[in-house]
Amino acid sequence: MDVVTASQLQGCFTPEDDVWFPDLTKIVWQDLDFFGWVHPSGHLAYIVAQSPNDGALKGVVLRRFERPTSRVRLDMCSLCLHVHGSGGTAMFSITEAGSRGRRTISNVVCTDLACSLRIRNKINPSSLMQETLYLEAKVWRILQRLHRWLVKTKYL
Ligand SMILES: [Zn+2]
Repeated sequence: MDVVTASQLQGCFTPEDDVWFPDLTKIVWQDLDFFGWVHPSGHLAYIVAQSPNDGALKGVVLRRFERPTSRVRLDMCSLCLHVHGSGGTAMFSITEAGSRGRRTISNVVCTDLACSLRIRNKINPSSLMQETLYLEAKVWRILQRLHRWLVKTKYL
């Protein structure tokens, strides 16, 4: 994605949103399909993405829930389809815009929202399910799945 400045990032949210803004100095924007980060408390997370409709940046606040790790199992991220061992994913909920908290749609996603870096093999370990798919196809798939989530919750 294109470089996003701190003030652009702030402009993606309303004053009512409980947003913690991260340090942007080390972000490599060209490696990102969307920008996702997690509040230091771990209970909130944020996604900023470019609208496929008008190109505008959209910000959304997500609630983040740890997943039980007591059982050995594999977890697949619903955005990038990276297959993690136990503990690599979290449940993220988006409240439908205008629903006053009544409707939420949740998905299991990489716990750090670093899906873009995973499909570019910038983070170890690699997926437990290997795919031979071009990067461009993986990018398309992430954005399609993210956009579908944001459309369902009326952010797009
Ligand atoms: Zn992911």
